[in-house]
Amino acid sequence: MSEPASDIATNFPIVTLDGGAATGKSSTARGVSQKLHFLHVDTGSHYRALTYLLLQKGVAPEETDTLSSLLDEMKLSAGIDGNLATLLADGEALSVDDLRSQEVNQSVSAFAALPSVRKRLLRYQRWHCNLVRENGFKGLVIEGRDIGSVVFPDAPFRFYLEADASTRVRRRSEEGQQDSVVERDKADSGRKNAPLLCPPGAVRINTGEFTLEEVIAQICQIVQNAPDPAN
Ligand code: C5P
Repeated sequence: MSEPASDIATNFPIVTLDGGAATGKSSTARGVSQKLHFLHVDTGSHYRALTYLLLQKGVAPEETDTLSSLLDEMKLSAGIDGNLATLLADGEALSVDDLRSQEVNQSVSAFAALPSVRKRLLRYQRWHCNLVRENGFKGLVIEGRDIGSVVFPDAPFRFYLEADASTRVRRRSEEGQQDSVVERDKADSGRKNAPLLCPPGAVRINTGEFTLEEVIAQICQIVQNAPDPAN
């Protein structure tokens, strides 16, 4: 599947989940996607994939001209694994170990702050609406930092997940990862371009106060109980 021009007018529900590192976005999005038969898009994995590929080519975030031409040349498409969309770069998937390596954890926020990187991925992320339609999903659940504010600001179901720092650090180390979640959040919230924030009007959920199942149930209930906009 390659990336055609995107048309973001949709006739299906879009759920956006924003929040800092290790606030439970991916587990929540996975649960919601399975319960509601939605496509799950993890935009953090997109920034990680581009970071991995650019690091492999030996490009630093400061080399803006080289970066722009490499980004233009990259052919991004998607595979689907169950409910999850996975990024393919020039037809190739990247492994979880590549995406979650310490090098990527350390550099991803610097690459994600660059307008050229964000512009390239914005187009790619909106294009996933086409995948929802083509693959018979009933909606889209998409997670990241700027989804309810920039990527889909008009989405009807927008959530902001949060949890205290000690809960988040514990979650990452239970996953066996070395990741400076607080530093990444600081960099992501402080950047000029599409910073991490709670989108105006989004529902805030403190995931430290509930079980994962409870968070998934809260979101599914809101989506399922909403009046049909067609009526
Ligand atoms: O969600 P995850 O921790 O995998 O995201 C990795 C990084 O990608 C974030 O720290 C942030 O710098 C960047 N990101 C972003 N905008 C998004 C999703 C992720 O800037 N929508």
